[in-house]
Amino acid sequence: MKILLIGKNGQVGWELQRALSTLGEVVAVDYFDTHLCGDLTDLEGIARTIQTVHPDVVVNAAAHTAVDKAESEPALSRLMNADSVAIIAKETASLGALLIHYSTDYVFDGKGTHYRNEDEQTGPLNVYGETKFAGEEAIRSANPRHFIFRTSWVYATRGANFAKTMLKLARERDALSIINDQFGAPTGAELLADCTAHAIRFEKNDQTKYGTYHLVASGETTWFDYASFVFEVARENGESLKIEKLTGVPTSSYPTPAKRPHNSRLSNDKFQQAFDLILPDWKTGVKRVVIEVLGK
Ligand code: NDP
Repeated sequence: MKILLIGKNGQVGWELQRALSTLGEVVAVDYFDTHLCGDLTDLEGIARTIQTVHPDVVVNAAAHTAVDKAESEPALSRLMNADSVAIIAKETASLGALLIHYSTDYVFDGKGTHYRNEDEQTGPLNVYGETKFAGEEAIRSANPRHFIFRTSWVYATRGANFAKTMLKLARERDALSIINDQFGAPTGAELLADCTAHAIRFEKNDQTKYGTYHLVASGETTWFDYASFVFEVARENGESLKIEKLTGVPTSSYPTPAKRPHNSRLSNDKFQQAFDLILPDWKTGVKRVVIEVLGK
């Protein structure tokens, strides 16, 4: 099996390089590569790469992920999250290749307090969510042989993310205010990569599961409780942190260019049932990554 991995150095892309390596030949590209184009802003280049590599599977882990920046650069966000995805979908369809792509909780408006299913009405609140949804739609209309995995609050040992930012701030400051009215599940890049590899393997024997899935860790938390847990794990592992006072604040007290949903709870039941897997509680992966980041 030949797999083309686009976005090999992102949080998820990095873990995919490891997880996909047991499945076959992995050709991994990034936007700065010169031998093969992995730049999502170069639509012809991306098409050419897929035609040249002629993969059985394409995994697209690249995206315009800067949620606030997307508000001031919507054209770039659309080019990377929707237009290039449409090209990837078209090219994989013409080869009959499987396409795996990641999307986001931000395709929803975040109303209510329930765990959302895959078929619920979308309603993105920001440019990032709008363009990611447009990317999903492009895949659904061009290549039926796909898995779209919507995930949330991604973290990893490598790359920039909330858990690592909080650890850094907790070493520098004695007080922090953290949002406590957005709910979701931090999901590890490692888990996403391992589940992706599993899905590719699964698809070899069962071609009935194509579609859109919520692929998130189980359980729920807020940014405030997530940060508290990160600090707890760090201290349990002998890290001395300066932070003493944590204050929970509403989203309204921390204005950002992009609006964010309050309720990012996604039901992962469909994924667990379809692929016969158990998705662990969010704390399992966060604990592991905090310990890794601390080098303990
Ligand atoms: P990252 O931002 O870590 O990875 C995205 C990668 O795309 C980076 O390596 C980035 O490089 C690269 N990139 C930048 N510009 C280009 C370009 N022009 N062409 C190709 N690649 C480019 O994202 P994650 O790994 O966290 O996200 C993986 C997927 O999961 C994405 O589809 C994202 O939308 C989705 N997702 C992520 C969430 C999160 O919390 N991070 C939440 C929900 C969904 P560089 O770093 O140098 O800019």
